[in-house]
Amino acid sequence: MTEDPHDWETATRLVRGGLNRSSHGEMTEALYLTQSFSYDTAESADERFSGAAPGFIYARYGSPTVQMFEDRLALLEGAQACRATASGMAAVHLAMTGLIRAGDHVVSGKALFGSCRWILNTWAPRFGIETSFVDAPDLAAWRAAVRPNTKLFFLETPANPLLEICDVAAICALAKAIGAKVVVDNVFATPIYQSPLKLGADIVVYSATKHIDGQGRVMGGAILGDAALMEESYKDMARHTGPAISPFNAWILLKGLETLDLRVRRQTQTATALADLIAEHPRVKACRYPTRSDHPQYAIAQRQMTGGGTLIAFDVGTRAAAFRVLNALQIIDISNNLGDAKSMATHPSTTTHRSMSEEQRLEIGLTDGWVRLSVGLEGEADLARDIGRALDGLLANGL
Ligand SMILES: *Cc1c(COP(=O)(O)O)cnc(C)c1O
Repeated sequence: MTEDPHDWETATRLVRGGLNRSSHGEMTEALYLTQSFSYDTAESADERFSGAAPGFIYARYGSPTVQMFEDRLALLEGAQACRATASGMAAVHLAMTGLIRAGDHVVSGKALFGSCRWILNTWAPRFGIETSFVDAPDLAAWRAAVRPNTKLFFLETPANPLLEICDVAAICALAKAIGAKVVVDNVFATPIYQSPLKLGADIVVYSATKHIDGQGRVMGGAILGDAALMEESYKDMARHTGPAISPFNAWILLKGLETLDLRVRRQTQTATALADLIAEHPRVKACRYPTRSDHPQYAIAQRQMTGGGTLIAFDVGTRAAAFRVLNALQIIDISNNLGDAKSMATHPSTTTHRSMSEEQRLEIGLTDGWVRLSVGLEGEADLARDIGRALDGLLANGL
């Protein structure tokens, strides 16, 4: 009996999925740095260009190392097809614009990664596309926002930066009923803890820059979904507009996938413990973590996520207190990235969410006291001491 990779456990898929060895039998995945490909005959070039014969044509269209990364990620996600891109934002932009045209209407969650919000707020209107932003956990708000020309729902869950969670299955059912497509940005949950395609989403997007690299090196992104939809909506657009990922970056990410499950589970284990420690600190007004029972959408998280993930958000009341906490950290870095092996803390309202107006920030509950923590692979006791000392410093200074 021949092994079918679709029957493999996640850990095996991540190490062996998509592996395509050359005639040399190299043990690790090969890095093919080539822009173009040669053909034995003019006839074979003709066949490849027509699509009658398989094979690569030009690296903007696809190439062997990129293909291995795409195949491995598709296997992990349980998707028929995957297209890798140069960054997460290239993936989000392609994922959205491949599905909409002038005159269409989009409904989106309000709380989004800053650049995703910019595309819908500022860029899409130039092409005659309007967006209604809704409070994503409120299903009735999605229903009320639908118009006859609604073609796309876009959502992020848990959302950046306050980890609000929306009901993916219920929102997808609503979209299906009105003939709209659903794109889910699954960066915060990671493919380890949430599978939007199984919950009814049409397309899932990743910034591979985050947990998939996980070691702070390269940028990358990916779009995954049904093969026919991906071909119809994205193939020509990706080929002709050129968001292709570098084979080098794809190779780094391919190797990153090998340890994704291990890293994300360890980071989550530490994050779960730190979230409790932070929540219990007398100076913390609120702490959001998906598997804590005081999370406002805890019940939804229990249904659709199998783990809480590597991010925590907490409110210390004022900007001065938040800055003081960040400045007191000795191990954890101040940085706006996330999903890295190194823990990082950021003050969203002055960094990642700065491009939103104050009014928009207040609409999503993002006041100046919030800190977002991305938990890395360091020892739990060291991180607990670092964050505990920074919070204790607020008490000592009467902040
Ligand atoms: C980082 C991020 C993106 C953008 O990805 P880049 O790789 O930085 O382009 C999109 N969505 C979410 C939720 C992110 O965290």
